[in-house]
Amino acid sequence: MLRGDDGGRTLQRGAIAAAKGVHNPIAAAKAMLFDKPVLIAGDGARAFAAQAGLRLCDPDALIAVHDAKRSDAEKRHDTVGCVVLDERGLLATAVSTGGLEGSAAGRVGDSPQPGCGFYCDNNIGGAVFSGDGEEIARMILAARVMYALDDLSPREAVEASLAHLDNIGGEAGGIALTPEGKVGWAHNSDHFAVAYASSDDPSPKVYLSKSEEQNA
Ligand code: ASP
Repeated sequence: MLRGDDGGRTLQRGAIAAAKGVHNPIAAAKAMLFDKPVLIAGDGARAFAAQAGLRLCDPDALIAVHDAKRSDAEKRHDTVGCVVLDERGLLATAVSTGGLEGSAAGRVGDSPQPGCGFYCDNNIGGAVFSGDGEEIARMILAARVMYALDDLSPREAVEASLAHLDNIGGEAGGIALTPEGKVGWAHNSDHFAVAYASSDDPSPKVYLSKSEEQNA
């Protein structure tokens, strides 16, 4: 889990991983932005959150409450990522994930790793991915978007990045946003839910797949 609030300008990063008992992991990642670490895992993540004065929780109780409200499919994993550009022209990205079902204890996927599940640089853009974490990390998909944005539109950059998964397999989807406010997204999975809005057109666009957007 990670966050890059204002990180697009200063390249600040914060992330916690394999964390239990932290009520809001993104708040912990945000608190880390102004600290030296980039990523803290396991018990250290909880200790960091406690020291930052953030709300802790009983992880087992939280899981029980969440599971009671969710279908079996939803229990497997959830990931939410966002890229934002504010009126000052600052970019930030954030990702929060429950990981993948059946993973090894202590496993850390792409989401908290800079250049893998996310990246943000105010001079280039911001990108976030969701999907098969090992493959996303091995192919450093967010980093590839950053390089591709020199020559390609955000959509083309995400597509070009995803094309590298053809070499090793794996499903993923990604979103990207440039400092000029251009949005792009793509996925090689069947579905990839996306929503976006801007001050130019504040009515949110919500799609469950690229083909749904194309047929809208
Ligand atoms: N990428 C996440 C992980 O591998 C899972 C996901 O995006 O659903 O931990």
